Amino acid sequence: MIDNEYLESLAAFVCSDDTSPSAVSIEERYTLRRAWDTVCLHSTVKHAINSVPHYRALAQESPDIPLLNKLSDLSTLPVLTKGSIQQCPRSFISSEVATTSIRCTSGTTGRRLAIYGCAEEEAARDALARAKWGRAFTQDKDIVLRIIPPMRRLLSDRTQTSVIQLTAIYSYDFPHYQRFDFEDFLAQCIFDEYPLRGTLGKVTVIHITPPFLVFPITSRLSARGVDLRRSHVRAICVSGGYISHRARNLVMESWGVPLVSSYSCTEVLGGARECSATPGIYHFDETILAEVVNARSGQPCRLSERGLLYLTSLYPFQQAMPMIRYDTGDIAELAESPCVCGEVGTSVKIVGRRVHCIDLSHILGKAWFLGTTDLETIVGDMPFVPFLPYPRFRWTLSGRDDGGSDIRIDIEVQSRSALDPSAFASELARRIVSLSADLRDVHGEGRLGVCVTPYDKGDLESHFQLLRDR
Ligand SMILES: [Zn+2]
Repeated sequence: MIDNEYLESLAAFVCSDDTSPSAVSIEERYTLRRAWDTVCLHSTVKHAINSVPHYRALAQESPDIPLLNKLSDLSTLPVLTKGSIQQCPRSFISSEVATTSIRCTSGTTGRRLAIYGCAEEEAARDALARAKWGRAFTQDKDIVLRIIPPMRRLLSDRTQTSVIQLTAIYSYDFPHYQRFDFEDFLAQCIFDEYPLRGTLGKVTVIHITPPFLVFPITSRLSARGVDLRRSHVRAICVSGGYISHRARNLVMESWGVPLVSSYSCTEVLGGARECSATPGIYHFDETILAEVVNARSGQPCRLSERGLLYLTSLYPFQQAMPMIRYDTGDIAELAESPCVCGEVGTSVKIVGRRVHCIDLSHILGKAWFLGTTDLETIVGDMPFVPFLPYPRFRWTLSGRDDGGSDIRIDIEVQSRSALDPSAFASELARRIVSLSADLRDVHGEGRLGVCVTPYDKGDLESHFQLLRDR
């Protein structure tokens, strides 16, 4: 059992950003963080076996399951899939706490899943926030405008939230059958004054899901003559997708504020914020234990290898429905920790959904996938590749008679007639093999080729990203 006093004292150490010589060094904080993870993991497994039917049954079937006194023991536990929770969701709810909140996955990555929460975990998260930043989530003075697509509203909601939150639903296809002035409505939401908590407040944070909505919202508001720099917004936060340099630049130029991105999944509370020093790298917070695992061997990935991303929610931050080794369905690359920015949590680069990635491990001789974020980065500065809502493409890996392999990519461009298809194809292929030294090597040896076929916009019928993991 971790009480809040213990939590706060340990968090004060772990999260200290005091850089004076007498303060804890980054190496010491790294060591403390591992100790923190170990203590929380032990408590998580104990709590799960004592009060969650699924884990109690697991412990009865395998009495030799250790209570996990060291982090490396984690890999001895089975992986938890979304499918197994869907088969019997109630067996994952703790009998020890009263559930007081519900949140749901959106359904965009398969059938929706309801996840239950409790007041005790909210209190633990507030205690951690106080230890880290000197304030609880509940004392936050921000007014958050949450902009979400219709699917989110229908299928996902958090009934318990302590931050003042407005919600606007924004459909990307909306203008096609628009019946009222949505941009004007959004501008009102952002610039109105709200008499809340005994004072007048305006929206200070805008949270947009998925990130590409930043483009139509910003450009349409600007086109209406709305001066976005005059708002009280101090940050635009995005989650649930890839962040491009185009989006960062647009937000800074139009809003004059930073674009803050985070990685999270509805099933596991907490998440990973994007590194302040290295865009594209995400650091997991103190509430989650993240593993990047070799998809073939099940062994932990080494630095710069790419594998399956499993998350374990840590006690006491997720108690009602603890998740141990939850398979996120994402591929991640393991990055350096501690990071140059001072963060000591597990660091990853998100590569893409597993069903959308190409496994090149057997060709490169190391755990490695080519992912959708690679392609999105590569075409980010190619204006003739349509980017909204995302580049439309499909790709496969096929074997050749000579034992080599080819990556075949079909991708939509604005207009085939407006470009030299063979020059475009060779440029895209060059950029892909330039992603890593290993790719360059196997390409140079003739063992891996890249064949690109451009399609006119709208001609690629079976864009692979649709509903593949249902
Ligand atoms: Zn960092």
